[in-house]
Amino acid sequence: MPAQHQDPENGHGSQELPGNTSPETPNNKTAEPAGIRALFEGLLQVAFPVNCIGCGTALPVRTRILCERCPHEQFSDPNPANEATCENLILPDGIMFQDALWKYDKGGLLNRIIHMLKYEGMQHVGEELGFLAGRRLLERHIEGSGRLADGRPLLLLPVPLHPKREQQRGYNQARLIAGGMHAASGIPVADAQLLIREKNTKTQTKFKLSQRMVNLKGAFVLNNYSAVEGRHIIIVDDVFTTGSTTFTVAQELQKAQPASVSVFTIGMA
Ligand SMILES: [Zn+2]
Repeated sequence: MPAQHQDPENGHGSQELPGNTSPETPNNKTAEPAGIRALFEGLLQVAFPVNCIGCGTALPVRTRILCERCPHEQFSDPNPANEATCENLILPDGIMFQDALWKYDKGGLLNRIIHMLKYEGMQHVGEELGFLAGRRLLERHIEGSGRLADGRPLLLLPVPLHPKREQQRGYNQARLIAGGMHAASGIPVADAQLLIREKNTKTQTKFKLSQRMVNLKGAFVLNNYSAVEGRHIIIVDDVFTTGSTTFTVAQELQKAQPASVSVFTIGMA
């Protein structure tokens, strides 16, 4: 029975029709294996139901959480006019653009999805979101505005977690997102040792951005200047809130004279 596993992506039984097979296999009865497969799928679906988190439609791929339609229907674009920033932020010197895939509302759908990614161990969510983000990055900043299309090399840089935090979680969600962005765009992801986080600071929401950036001073250390010099660096994170983290990373990167530094996140709070 384990011989049935060659076709993991086939959620519906349409491929069993022998459209172009030779007539030498007249007694090749496909009804029974297809029935077993359907039964197997059905059992899996009962044991671990996988439905779109946005609309409840059954999903054919078990490692996905969103159907094809929901990314376009359940979320809003924080930057429809393709400005250099979402919501008229004042960008610090040296940041080319700040963009995000979707608006982030506390208690909303994206909030729930980010929670799955960060606190429920659902690592595949990072890749799925990252893939959508990577497509957006291409459309908007390479093919669209051309901000990143001057031929200089690009690099995706996930915001590092403090090693202790990463050990607790078992992974860095920003790196998973960057992996999905790579899958969609082909842009390489920086080595995990390129930038390390030395301070484990909690977000101090009562302070202003400038004060928070002072508190984060020295939190990130760039280990290899030549990997950054002359490149367009895209800092990747899950949610952009105040910018204190990503802008502090950007400051550290400026020491190595990149072609540009930008920020792309999944959520825009
Ligand atoms: Zn859906």
